[in-house]
Amino acid sequence: MRISGIRAFQVGLPLHEGSYKWSGGNSVDVFDSTVVEIRTDSGILGYGEICPLGPAYLPAYAAGARTGIAELAPQLIGVDPTQLGVVNQTMDRAMRGHPYVKSALDMACWDILGKACGQPVATLLGGRFGEDFALYRAISQDTPEAMAGMVAEYRSQGYTKFQLKVGGDPDTDIARIHAAAAVLSTGEVLVADANTGWTQHQAVRVAGAVRDVDVYIEQPCMHYEECLAVRHHTNRPMVLDESIEDMLVLLRAYQDRAMDVINLKISKVGGITKARQIRDLCVSLGIAMTIEDTWGGDIVTAAISHLAHSTPTGLLFSSTDFNSYVTVSIAEGAPQRNHGRLAAPVTPGLGITPRMDVLGKPVLEIGG
Ligand code: MG
Repeated sequence: MRISGIRAFQVGLPLHEGSYKWSGGNSVDVFDSTVVEIRTDSGILGYGEICPLGPAYLPAYAAGARTGIAELAPQLIGVDPTQLGVVNQTMDRAMRGHPYVKSALDMACWDILGKACGQPVATLLGGRFGEDFALYRAISQDTPEAMAGMVAEYRSQGYTKFQLKVGGDPDTDIARIHAAAAVLSTGEVLVADANTGWTQHQAVRVAGAVRDVDVYIEQPCMHYEECLAVRHHTNRPMVLDESIEDMLVLLRAYQDRAMDVINLKISKVGGITKARQIRDLCVSLGIAMTIEDTWGGDIVTAAISHLAHSTPTGLLFSSTDFNSYVTVSIAEGAPQRNHGRLAAPVTPGLGITPRMDVLGKPVLEIGG
């Protein structure tokens, strides 16, 4: 099988709650997502999606994804999409870095591989652990009272894991964590995600002030070394997210005992192929994972579900159903949250069929 053509589509994903706010005064109202369609000489079509969390979260932005895909796509014409290692080496030789650019292309090739062999991607990634898996709900940055109030709201939707967006003024963040913890029920999980927003001394202050609270601290500071210093000062379990950008830093962080959990985002590391490598190593090392992506709609949610569902339950800390945050559905067949849990589709490939009427005209078209 050979790749004969690649198309890309741009789609806006507005939020049910109007906007999503996190550290550093950042917020997004409408997510700018890019869907990739890979066409083959056998007639099988594969789909992938990349949706950065705005331009100020990671070194990634939506227009950059499309520019990069336009740069890479011609290099993939003629390549066998079912040979994922070859596909990834081809992309890495053609373009150094820019992992997020490669993510949707890799994802679309996994969709094709699954369709070609009649298996869901979760099966190709190791199989399904259990019937479904637990999701977390991000709580957009707001007043301590409002954020604590959202715990009850999301609990009523079935969620048992709550991630507070902190990383702002330390005194306000301490109040946010205490307010949310006060309304928590037994068995529920609370994470305070600073998204790199604290300086080291602020993070040490917050960690000290919540040392008796049952809460995880996620990515307190911008740099790995700062997070490691905070780690040495806190008794709270720690999650590293933005810092874990590839296998090399994961290995270093493991040696440094820098975290208890990592947040593994598919596009942050360059696609399902590389996320699977990291996932499998974490399983061998005993490091739990939140498996998700930067953002996305139905296609990203499906891809997440295949990687998460094929992860041993004991090491899957949580995952995300981004398609429930946004008002636009871009594909049929995507997994839908049920009592705070999600299951990967059982149909071949990613198990989704894009709504071409929603995607509209392609913004990029290469080959046939
Ligand atoms: Mg995070």
